[in-house]
Amino acid sequence: MSEIIIKEGKRIVPDEVTIPYIEGDGVGAEITPVAQKIIDAAVKKSYNGNRRIKWKEVLAGEKAFNKTGSWLPDETLEAFKKYRVGIKGPLTTPVGGGIRSLNVALRQDLDLYVCLRPVRWFKGVVSPVKEPQKVNMFIFRENTEDIYAGIEWQQGTPEASKLLRFLENEMGVKKIRFPETSSFGIKPVSVEGTERLIRAAVQYALDNNHPSVTIVHKGNIMKYTEGSFKLWGYDLAEREFGKHVFTMLRYEKIKKEKGTEAADNALNEAKKNGKIIIKDVIADAFLQNTLLIPEEYSVIATLNLNGDYISDQLAAMVGGIGIAPGANINYTTGHAIFEATHGTAPAIAGKNIVNPSSLLLSGVMMLSYLGWKEAGERITASLEKTLASHKATIDLARFMDKAETLSTTQFGEAIINNL
Ligand code: NAD
Repeated sequence: MSEIIIKEGKRIVPDEVTIPYIEGDGVGAEITPVAQKIIDAAVKKSYNGNRRIKWKEVLAGEKAFNKTGSWLPDETLEAFKKYRVGIKGPLTTPVGGGIRSLNVALRQDLDLYVCLRPVRWFKGVVSPVKEPQKVNMFIFRENTEDIYAGIEWQQGTPEASKLLRFLENEMGVKKIRFPETSSFGIKPVSVEGTERLIRAAVQYALDNNHPSVTIVHKGNIMKYTEGSFKLWGYDLAEREFGKHVFTMLRYEKIKKEKGTEAADNALNEAKKNGKIIIKDVIADAFLQNTLLIPEEYSVIATLNLNGDYISDQLAAMVGGIGIAPGANINYTTGHAIFEATHGTAPAIAGKNIVNPSSLLLSGVMMLSYLGWKEAGERITASLEKTLASHKATIDLARFMDKAETLSTTQFGEAIINNL
């Protein structure tokens, strides 16, 4: 048995575990074997050969299309369903009508409701901010709802007109500035969707000893969607994690009843007792604060669109847009796909110069998810050491002082040597 099973809500991972992988298009063929070799070496070293990954290739993207005529063969989805945890390189987004983005298809079919992006700085990497070492955040982006749900109608179509009539005649809407020339989009945000995202974020903070969870939203403007996301999030945190958290909602209540000093005392007491502080901040203020006081934030829980912007800004702040890892996860079923967050980089494909770190660090996240933390930590430490010794692929090396530029395969070997 090499499959992961879920027992009483917990993932049971066999010592020899099958992991389906999508090699990826473009630079995928270069980064995937390098990342796998490093992961295998780290697992072997960490568990004296008692644990092992059995890699199982599954097809998607151009490679799948050329071999099978399908961009996303059913067997690929079946393998991710059966084995639960997988990893993927970047995929070419098929151009043409009627074909869904492959990434979106995988997320939707497996209901991977969390997009998790850890953001940290690696010594040696050039960053546009003064103190990138202060950035250490874990973004939980809701992956299935919001304006991203793809429910929209193009201006000028009969559907857009029909919706407009409904809004005006039956809902009494008078606020549309230019009704006849408007396109429309719908923004669903649900109790269930919010609660499962916030639950995952708070549980993650609890499991990994993080000091706070910040709910990021635009509830000041979008009261019933983003505002409710905040309130439902606070409710869930108090209801399900009451013993372990102190919410700023409670702070406000104490302040109202007993004054600021009493509220501050309660907050300080909670911090002293290691409780996770649940707070919220408006998205635009949050983006400012990430530049001014990044040390105030740890785990971030946010909606789909906010999460998209936040992920890229934070990654850029640590100079790591090309090395940032990511994962799409359903914590209830256990299904998870870890992925390189960059694209297929066609201009540099086949040249053995691409940086494999994004996929590799996604592999580190995967090892942690499997409960094989030691192997993941070994890889992270080795990558830290390699970059700190000014060895890097060209994308990072060109900004470093006295750097030694390595090819993709040489960089992989350097990391293995430092494990
Ligand atoms: P891209 O990420 O492929 O490239 C953007 C720039 O970053 C390019 O200059 C590229 O050379 C560089 N780059 C990216 N990753 C790098 C790495 N690991 N090492 C060094 N340099 C790196 O984005 P794009 O050009 O907008 O997209 C190209 C293709 O990839 C498109 O078909 C797009 O749809 C697809 N794409 C896929 C995913 C995914 O599968 N998750 C994500 C983004 C884009």
